[in-house]
Amino acid sequence: MREVPTSLYDAAMASPTIGVFALQGDVREHLRILESAGANAVKVRRPGELEQCDGFVIPGGESTTMYKLARTFELFEPLRAKIRDGLPTFGTCAGMIMLADRVIDGTKDQETLGGLDITVRRNAFGRQVDSFEGDIDFDGFDEQVHAVFIRAPWVERLGDGVGVLARVDQGEAAGRVVAVRQGRLMATSFHPEVGGADRIHRYFVDLVTND
Ligand code: GLN
Repeated sequence: MREVPTSLYDAAMASPTIGVFALQGDVREHLRILESAGANAVKVRRPGELEQCDGFVIPGGESTTMYKLARTFELFEPLRAKIRDGLPTFGTCAGMIMLADRVIDGTKDQETLGGLDITVRRNAFGRQVDSFEGDIDFDGFDEQVHAVFIRAPWVERLGDGVGVLARVDQGEAAGRVVAVRQGRLMATSFHPEVGGADRIHRYFVDLVTND
């Protein structure tokens, strides 16, 4: 049963508005799962649309296209500024790359929005294992989450203020960091938006609502 909001502030935050970067990537999946996690999910393509957002999601897709489109649509700098100013933001896969301060194996001139003090390696898992899935432990969850990796990055180095939420737990890549959080920013190498469950989106919606 839902609690009845007791003030206008509670009413607003009972269902936070979460924008999804909608110039490229698997936007629809995020919109759907954010709604199921209790948020009011909206597509964002223009800088003005950022104003309504209590939180923001950068989907999976292709980071080398995303940054160019963000530049073309003049979303890059306003979004970067919002993230610096504390807009809670969640990046999945290419979105993780977009949030990383440093990228290994990016294209020449590749830019990121930054904000997360991490170094990611693009397409880190190699060609043989381009895409794979498996169950992994996730910080604070009793049950494992199903993680789908598609030409995914991993986190190669983390700054002091960055917490690890998940690592790969088997195979050659065992121990590699695949989910992190730093303050109001979080990122996963995998795609919780295609894994079926909405627990990780709920985790993010909670972060938007409570932090
Ligand atoms: N390899 C892609 C990139 O570099 C990410 C793939 C994904 O988001 N599934 O941006």
